[in-house]
Amino acid sequence: MNLSELSINDLPSIGTKGVTILKQLKINSVFDLLMHMPYDYSDRTEVVPIALINVDEPVSIEGIITRNYTTNSLKKEMYNLYLEDETGGIKIVFFNLKAFQKMKLQNGRKLKVFGKAKIFNNQLSMTAPEICYIEDQATNLTPKYHLTKNLKMSTMRKYAVSAVEMLKKFPLEELIPSNLLPDNINLTFSEALALVHCPPQSTDIELLKEFKHPAQLRIFLDELVAHQLGLIKFKQSIKQNSATKLPKVPQLNASFLENLPYKPTNAQMLAFEAISNDLTRDIPMNRLVQGDVGSGKTLVAMLATLQAIGNGVQVAVMVPTEILAKQHAISFNEVLAKLGFKTVCLVGQIKAKEKREIIKEIASGDIDVIIGTHAIFQKDITYHNLALMIIDEQHRFGVKQRLQLKEKGKQNNFHPHMLSMSATPIPRTLAQTLYYDLDISIVNELPPGRTPVKTFLLSTNAKQKLLDRIAVHCNQGHQVYWVCCLIEESDTLDCQDAENALKFLQHALPQFNIALIHGKLKQQEKQAIMQNFSNGNIDILVATSVIEVGVNVPNAFLIVIENAERHGLAQLHQLRGRVGRGKLESYCCLLCNDNISSQSKERLQTLINSNDGFYLAQKDLEIRGPGDLLGTEQTGAMNFKVANLLTDASIIDQANNIARQISDHYPNLIHDILARWYPEGETLSEI
Ligand code: ADP
Ligand code: MG
Repeated sequence: MNLSELSINDLPSIGTKGVTILKQLKINSVFDLLMHMPYDYSDRTEVVPIALINVDEPVSIEGIITRNYTTNSLKKEMYNLYLEDETGGIKIVFFNLKAFQKMKLQNGRKLKVFGKAKIFNNQLSMTAPEICYIEDQATNLTPKYHLTKNLKMSTMRKYAVSAVEMLKKFPLEELIPSNLLPDNINLTFSEALALVHCPPQSTDIELLKEFKHPAQLRIFLDELVAHQLGLIKFKQSIKQNSATKLPKVPQLNASFLENLPYKPTNAQMLAFEAISNDLTRDIPMNRLVQGDVGSGKTLVAMLATLQAIGNGVQVAVMVPTEILAKQHAISFNEVLAKLGFKTVCLVGQIKAKEKREIIKEIASGDIDVIIGTHAIFQKDITYHNLALMIIDEQHRFGVKQRLQLKEKGKQNNFHPHMLSMSATPIPRTLAQTLYYDLDISIVNELPPGRTPVKTFLLSTNAKQKLLDRIAVHCNQGHQVYWVCCLIEESDTLDCQDAENALKFLQHALPQFNIALIHGKLKQQEKQAIMQNFSNGNIDILVATSVIEVGVNVPNAFLIVIENAERHGLAQLHQLRGRVGRGKLESYCCLLCNDNISSQSKERLQTLINSNDGFYLAQKDLEIRGPGDLLGTEQTGAMNFKVANLLTDASIIDQANNIARQISDHYPNLIHDILARWYPEGETLSEI
């Protein structure tokens, strides 16, 4: 008997109505029901004598109903009763009870409730407590579940209890060999599930509440192992795909490097070496280049491009924003045109006629390099012989999008080589879980001659001093970014908004040209503003985080970040990377109100002390969790049923180790483990 195949219909406690309601929570099988894990627990096993109740503390009390009467307030009917035990009495109020519910709450009846007491009008009272029926196992801790419309907590608990009874009859197979389980997690999967839903009174409730109980970890581990095995399988399946071999092109490289105004750094050359070797093979490259902002990843991408187009095939470069597409197209074209190659930038605002022309040239193979946003993979575009795809700022694209692109690039069973580049350094643990399918190169060296950006914290009260300094610099033709979290004023968030910041700056520094750029502007407007800033026509650019990604203006010497405490460290580090791209001594000013918490101050201090993107990403992971580091698309795309990368980084490592061992030594288990967690065969490899 397999509980995934056993429908919740088969549970004696659930009627057809219950089945429909549970469907809304995506619970179809008994296994799904068991996977609907409690998000909190309370201890109701101990009944507190009424005389000993502390106000505002959740307690269970039990007594006899000695009085009851109904009153009416504005909209609600209140059912009041007195509950007495040997030690004292308390008033209890329920709202809008149905007649049958009142019937159960008549004088002389015994009643157990769970809630928080307060004092109203000198009277100890409890408002709308939870009624504990006999079915609530009084000897266990009480779990709390997420509910949906028409599903009551007590009903959900009843369902869970009957799922656990079924589990006891038909335990799930123990798939992970016990010798691979860590010592502190020594329960079977079935034992763990039973405990999580029906924890005996002796269970450490604090551990449960923090999702750190071995039973919970055992279940998370099972899913993380399955996820990791899915990735391993995926990586192996990619290795079976074919790709076009792209031999090295040393002469082209040499002429390219001769034209370059500088020498590549060692780190750039090492990353390119790895890529260059990957490209010579007939299996698709799948490599991620991680390098801090400003480390010169574009050059690495250009060298890879050259090896492809030098072999007569096409290259597609995908970037997250049109601004960046334009900028890349200009720099690629500058160097590639001299060598006789043709680059186009394919963005939304191109006229229809021109676009048709470009599409024709892509299909005929006249164009070598195509640069654009995800639009370059729309249906109407057919490549002549695409053999390399480059994804810049890949952290802005979800895992799903990345894999879909890979599919789109496929031609006659040949997969393109993939090169991803990211300036969000991802800590190793997380990278293994997210990107097991990728080989990783790290560009950990900044080009010479750069002085690190000086970062400092400034109270908003000291803005005037800052403005004076800005005036001096802007008079010398230097430029400033001024970043705000919001575009418009907000009633709910206490943040400086970009529109007001613009007004403020225009008033304070009327002699300078100040402009505003934000995500809601039309592409064309954004483009024009960025162009003007890039040309030096704009002195101060007020922006939201649209400028976060990739844009290069070497003459900008200062970035001011308002309400810096609201951003993650990795994002602040990215923003800081917008300056210090040229020869100017550069600064990053973190503007904060005086009342920010000491924790926030400490976090910002980390940024001031370190220029190491990997270190900052690790800190961000510890403090704010992976969602903040990666953006919701990426963490969301992982779609875990129960596990949460936030809960415990140490079990991610354990899961990765277990998965590797299973893959190496127990390959016959892989199928069943994947089938448990991905019943429709939907693993990452099939997305
Ligand atoms: P990122 O890694 O953030 O994408 P870019 O590729 O945009 O960085 O490079 C940042 C700046 O550094 C560019 O202006 C680029 O021309 C310059 N650059 C890249 N490599 C070198 C190098 N080896 N020596 C000097 N300057 C370099
Ligand atoms: Mg870049």
